[in-house]
Amino acid sequence: MSKRPQNVCHDTLPWLISVSLGLNIHMAFNAGVKKLIVTDPKTKQRLPCVMCGGIYPIADAVHIIDEKEWVRQIGHDSKKNGIPLCPNCHRVFDEILRPYLYRALEAFGSRDLPQSWR
Ligand SMILES: [Zn+2]
Repeated sequence: MSKRPQNVCHDTLPWLISVSLGLNIHMAFNAGVKKLIVTDPKTKQRLPCVMCGGIYPIADAVHIIDEKEWVRQIGHDSKKNGIPLCPNCHRVFDEILRPYLYRALEAFGSRDLPQSWR
């Protein structure tokens, strides 16, 4: 019977495995912007993941619009383009939710959608 490492939340294992396999292709926020996204401005406490409510050892935030696409249009990274998510929900957002949102918004007639959502 295998034993899980004591210091790793089992929910982070898929993320850790994807990183170790080189599958984590997300661009990271710069540290200052990321801190603004993952920290409650009033209490200065770490915000939980907005999708599952989990708090993980390493804070994570997802770009709503791909960083390169955002910076090309806006000029700089911004808190407005981030959501505090745990590593697993980050991946669900990037790989599942964004394509669903893209298809629905495109069918609805929305134009100039982020290409990173396709
Ligand atoms: Zn989560």
